[in-house]
Amino acid sequence: MRISTNNSEVRKRNRNRVFRFINNTKETCMSEISAALEVSGPTVMSIVKELKEDGVIREVGEYESTGGRKAKAIASVKDGVYAIGVDITLNHVSLVYTDLGEEALKHRRVQKPFRQGTAYIEEVAGLVKDFVKENQIPEEKILGMGLSMPVIVDRSRDMIANSHVLGLYEVECEEWTSRMPYPCEIINDANAAALAEALWQKERGSMVYLLLSNSVGGAICVKLPEPEDMQEDIRERAVIDTYEGDNWRSAEFGHMTLHPGGKTCYCGKQGCVDAYCSASNLADLENGKLERFFEKLEAGNVRYQEIWQRYLDDLALVVDNLRMAFDCDVILGGYVGSFMEPYMEKLKERLVPKDIFDHDGSYARPCRYQKEASALGAALYQIKDYIASI
Ligand SMILES: [Zn+2]
Repeated sequence: MRISTNNSEVRKRNRNRVFRFINNTKETCMSEISAALEVSGPTVMSIVKELKEDGVIREVGEYESTGGRKAKAIASVKDGVYAIGVDITLNHVSLVYTDLGEEALKHRRVQKPFRQGTAYIEEVAGLVKDFVKENQIPEEKILGMGLSMPVIVDRSRDMIANSHVLGLYEVECEEWTSRMPYPCEIINDANAAALAEALWQKERGSMVYLLLSNSVGGAICVKLPEPEDMQEDIRERAVIDTYEGDNWRSAEFGHMTLHPGGKTCYCGKQGCVDAYCSASNLADLENGKLERFFEKLEAGNVRYQEIWQRYLDDLALVVDNLRMAFDCDVILGGYVGSFMEPYMEKLKERLVPKDIFDHDGSYARPCRYQKEASALGAALYQIKDYIASI
């Protein structure tokens, strides 16, 4: 009995690995899967047959023959399911939809100042319905949606515990989710953005995401090893997960102390990272327009250059501390992160002398996704769960 349980667990695990491998490639063939996953040819063949019958993969052609029978090219049915992601900020609502390809197939950003109360929530639900209609997304293929918000979600009570930014305290998630047109989960905005980045760079390890927007936040993405214990149900495990902490307050990097006794943070403490590294430190010099700050910086504005040098000094301290604490890549995200690419060398010059282990600062990287990151990540929670269930 024991052996047969083990076998079924192994098979379930292999089935999931095979599907994930296929889904991560544009197209592949059975011999490639067998070699990459070290699973026997007959096992791969029977799993492929099963996945094909379930409609989650399909044949997409044949490879050129090198002698024997032509190998069938197979690919996942990317458009077999869809998920919607919505990002709520103080002034905007962003909408995205994605499929198993895990890319934003469409991104729409609407100016809509946040308001307390159900009327606003109903309006967001209306935006989702319009978005689905406009993009002709087949209703029956929609797995569900994710709502990214700058909130701390207490999953043990299914409550929005608090949001300084939106002024929400102790609100039941259901207030929001029950009004949405699809099964819905509320996700912290930094966690959502981090998931989008982590899924894009699957081959890398764990990562810390530093959100440099009008407030500073973050997320810790942990890449879990393949389960060693065959008894473990793969469906219970995601390959990439976020570490949320005992009280769902992990990665509040904005409130780590950077300069003791320094500038007062909105939280009331002095010298927090947020008071120095939030995007508004730069954007407020240009009436909230961060791109104007960078335009003038590039045009040679001396004052802005000094401010930027100091910003990079502070940022390097934070990034180095995160590296020391977590020993993984540090992704610079949020509004400032999306402008970081040309300044990475300058940042690395500051990181190298601090780093007692490595000496090139290559662990620090700018984000790939910009304004759509959190909305996409919120949608990807649904996709991730679906993939884990295959
Ligand atoms: Zn603070």
